[in-house]
Amino acid sequence: MLSIEDVRAEVEAWLEENWNPDLTVAEWWDILARSGYAAPSFPEDTWGKGYPRDLVFAVNETISQHGAIGPPAGLGYLLAAPTIVAHGSERQKEEDLLRILNGQDAWCQLFSEPGAGSDLASLGTKAVKDGDEWIITGQKVWTSTAQLSNKGMLLARTAPDLPKHKGITYFEFDMQQPGVEIRPLREMTGRALFNEVFIDGARVRDEDIIGGLNNGWAAANTTLMAERAGLGTGGSGGAGNAFPGPLAKHLDNRAGDHVGQVRTGGTGGGGVAAAPRLIKLAQQLGKSTDPTIRQKLAKLFTMQQLGRYSALRAKSPGQRTGGEPNIAKLMMSDLLRLQREVGNEIIGAHGMVMGTETPGGGTVQEITLFSPGPSIYGGTDQVQRNIIGERVLGLPKEPGPAKDTPFKDLLVNG
Ligand SMILES: Cc1cc2nc3c(=O)[nH]c(=O)nc-3n(C[C@H](O)[C@H](O)[C@H](O)COP(=O)(O)OP(=O)(O)OC[C@H]3O[C@@H](n4cnc5c(N)ncnc54)[C@H](O)[C@@H]3O)c2cc1C
Repeated sequence: MLSIEDVRAEVEAWLEENWNPDLTVAEWWDILARSGYAAPSFPEDTWGKGYPRDLVFAVNETISQHGAIGPPAGLGYLLAAPTIVAHGSERQKEEDLLRILNGQDAWCQLFSEPGAGSDLASLGTKAVKDGDEWIITGQKVWTSTAQLSNKGMLLARTAPDLPKHKGITYFEFDMQQPGVEIRPLREMTGRALFNEVFIDGARVRDEDIIGGLNNGWAAANTTLMAERAGLGTGGSGGAGNAFPGPLAKHLDNRAGDHVGQVRTGGTGGGGVAAAPRLIKLAQQLGKSTDPTIRQKLAKLFTMQQLGRYSALRAKSPGQRTGGEPNIAKLMMSDLLRLQREVGNEIIGAHGMVMGTETPGGGTVQEITLFSPGPSIYGGTDQVQRNIIGERVLGLPKEPGPAKDTPFKDLLVNG
């Protein structure tokens, strides 16, 4: 039985031998992926080590302390990889999973549609069989990083005669093909993290179905649980990171040049580093003696530590209620709102101006503008509470049409 100390020593020795800042990002990620340390929680036959959460944490921390960059950022690593581990075919585990872990592919999540967000199972994007391929037509929205992704986790309706949860299939989708148009959506942060994706007659092969025909809902739930559990943990370790896939053009960069660049896909909240950062800012601006601010900072620090433990618990196999990922996600939304509140109390009127020359370098303003996002994506706060109510506490379900009503007979959004 390996101890945390054994693992730290083992990873440190491995890094001594293998980390070299002069490797390209692609070379380093390939070495990391093949070693099992890119995704140590995955089973050994799917590029992992089968480690429990405390050992995974030790691996990530050792990589970070050594000053090496961690595994690829983004939704492929966070969402598609665990979905392939749970539902993928042998070929997908052997080839496609490796291409996520070594950063060759970047993935986006093609779930939400204009008429299907909270009620995702109402999605209307169609997949129609054509020989050993499927023809896809529909519209997706809020697709984060679609403009940087060459692959997509696509949910499409393959059997409208079946009830809405049963006729959905999960596809591995090629984003760089005719019939795919990506239009960026500008957010109030000034950036365009997410996009509309219009799909008109694009194609997917049979062998790119993940989890079986008409069984997409089960695979989608694995993705959503990974999303909820993964949020708020501040990325996947490492002293820096880069964005995967051919479009971001990081693969040929020198790995060492990415040390110090931490990406959480633009969706984090500064992880556990946020409280110490705000404490420092309060000290610099002479606000650290204000009793209200002190109280809020103490609460923020405590909640961040609790949030980290909840997120770790949510990722562990031995969950106690099944609602841990939902609780972890709700905590993260609360945390971000508290960061926004106390951050603005610290910087005062500076909060009205965007700019790196303001105290804190503009981080508080960034958090303020992004803070509504996390309580929406991955399922809104209300949806998390519904899930906890119905699936964990056993409360009655929301009224609605009978579960076995065929999708084609439902009222729109019914
Ligand atoms: C920053 C960001 C990034 C995103 N990235 C992606 C992505 O990469 N891929 C992707 O597929 N999607 C993405 N999304 C979309 C996200 O998953 C949806 O916005 C979300 O599921 C809500 O759906 P909706 O916007 O259609 O709102 P709606 O479902 O229309 O909800 C509107 C309001 O009604 C409430 N509501 C709805 N149903 C219920 C109910 N049953 N009980 C109580 N209240 C209810 C909601 O809580 C919300 O307040 C992203 C969203 C954001 C903000």
